[in-house]
Amino acid sequence: MKSQIRNPKSKIVIAGAGPAGTSLAIRLAQKDFEVTLIERETFPRHKLCGEFISPECLAHFEDLGVLDNMLSAGGARITDTRFYAPSGLSFCV
Ligand SMILES: Cc1cc2nc3c(=O)[nH]c(=O)nc-3n(C[C@H](O)[C@H](O)[C@H](O)COP(=O)(O)OP(=O)(O)OC[C@H]3O[C@@H](n4cnc5c(N)ncnc54)[C@H](O)[C@@H]3O)c2cc1C
Repeated sequence: MKSQIRNPKSKIVIAGAGPAGTSLAIRLAQKDFEVTLIERETFPRHKLCGEFISPECLAHFEDLGVLDNMLSAGGARITDTRFYAPSGLSFCV
């Protein structure tokens, strides 16, 4: 979506500090917007998660300036996924 905001010093409030809100807040701050990010929970919040990060996201995290911190957290690298049928047959991608 093309931005309709003309004044780079506009005050912007983002509700929700999940991945979407946080990413947007960082990107706007990088462009010199004044951003306030509000979150109703206290982090780290309880949230169901597989704790898996798709490789497609790495360039995004690099842009946001958080890639090194994420990699240094020491997550295991997953190189393939195996799907099993009830019969025991499986295939790997
Ligand atoms: C079971 C499960 C497993 C998953 N596993 C993975 C995984 O392994 N890897 C992966 O990449 N993705 C995973 N996902 C998907 C991932 O969780 C979502 O894509 C992601 O959280 C969406 O981010 P979001 O910022 O849009 O929303 P959310 O993460 O839901 O963030 C929204 C935030 O807004 C806050 N909020 C809501 N209303 C208000 C308000 N009125 N005022 C202030 N704050 C408010 C909420 O507290 C919340 O923190 C999983 C999802 C589920 C359900």
